[in-house]
Amino acid sequence: MRYTTSGKCDDQSIVLGTQPLTAEANGVKVAVSFNGNIVNTQQLKQEITEAFQDFTCGCDSDLVCRKLLLELTKGKPLPAAVKTVMESLDGAFSVTGIAGNGDLFAFKDPHGVKPLCAGHSPDGSMFAFSSETVSLDINGFVRDFELNPGELVTVSKDGFRRQQLIENPKKAFCAFEYAYFARPDSRFDGKYVYEIREDYGRNIVHEFPEIVEDADIIMSVPETGDDPAMGVHEASGLRWERASRRHRYVTERAFILLNDERFSTIDRKVNILGSKVAGKRVIVTEDSIVRGDTTKIIIDKLRKAGAKKVYMFVTFPRIIGPCFYGIDMSSYGQLIGSRHKADEIAKIIGADAVCYQSIDGLVRASGENRADLCMACITGEYPTPLAQSMADDMKARFLSGYKEKGRIYEQNDPITSPS
Ligand code: SF4
Repeated sequence: MRYTTSGKCDDQSIVLGTQPLTAEANGVKVAVSFNGNIVNTQQLKQEITEAFQDFTCGCDSDLVCRKLLLELTKGKPLPAAVKTVMESLDGAFSVTGIAGNGDLFAFKDPHGVKPLCAGHSPDGSMFAFSSETVSLDINGFVRDFELNPGELVTVSKDGFRRQQLIENPKKAFCAFEYAYFARPDSRFDGKYVYEIREDYGRNIVHEFPEIVEDADIIMSVPETGDDPAMGVHEASGLRWERASRRHRYVTERAFILLNDERFSTIDRKVNILGSKVAGKRVIVTEDSIVRGDTTKIIIDKLRKAGAKKVYMFVTFPRIIGPCFYGIDMSSYGQLIGSRHKADEIAKIIGADAVCYQSIDGLVRASGENRADLCMACITGEYPTPLAQSMADDMKARFLSGYKEKGRIYEQNDPITSPS
């Protein structure tokens, strides 16, 4: 299934965009699955439409698939075709696919924004690629390596063949994977994501000692708030009261839903165990604040249940700008942090304080070098040039009162604009 950060989100479009996508021309075939988001869709669409008369672009996965097919139909071998794709696309793309001759392949964009790892079955007869190690684990596969930015890996009966197609790539791995997107039981560089999130919780305790002093209990917004809650509990000594419970069968990601859906979804999704918070000063751990309205609903529920104070401990620093690389927070207008600082956000959502983990703490706990992380949505520094110029341009317009019309990278785009 496609997580829609490009193209339409109606049921039919989502079904049409279901991966893998396949394409064929002049006897050349390719199938592709893709994780990420492409920014320079306009330019690519023009090139591909000229080459393939039947092309009707539904989403950026289509563009990746057709661009690769286009290069293959020019007679290029797979590595040369993939290299051209890597050099032609602006954005984030971790791609797996099957070539017409049956070869399995995988490659990552030159910044390695999205994760992609390789593994094999214990008897060595099967090979696999996955965004996260968890899917290797649950299928009984052994993890071999994380692909490097700008690397192509092909698989034959002899195993993996690794080719570095882009020399000296500039790594920019998505920092939001650690805080929110990745599963806690996945590993990056040998460390479980949940351990990193626990460290985030410890960091916030050390960064806001006066708030910890003024609290009775901690609780979490399930489930991504659970791991930092453990860290807060260990570092502060405060009881972690499991006073919020998530509905097992309401699984939508609230922050990507439309307004009305979001309110009713979060209301059904999280229940508060009222007597556990009544009369208490509560620290609530949360992974991030995007729009702020889901957090506001939870705080409202806590107040109604009688919580005396509500302090938000938020592990991902204040989100000030959109993501162009595969997380669907794609305009300034939807981000409460683009217009408001922490104290203003606290007032708007009804908290006594909003305490964001520092960027330094986030980097330290991730175990990555700061220079190797994408943190564009919290720093405003985008790793790819087109995204930077689009973000800068839209920010200037937004601050002067312009009302964005959907995702920034789809504006003036007649095919992929949201309806
Ligand atoms: S902009 Fe933010 S969410 Fe998007 S890839 Fe970079 S760190 Fe991740």
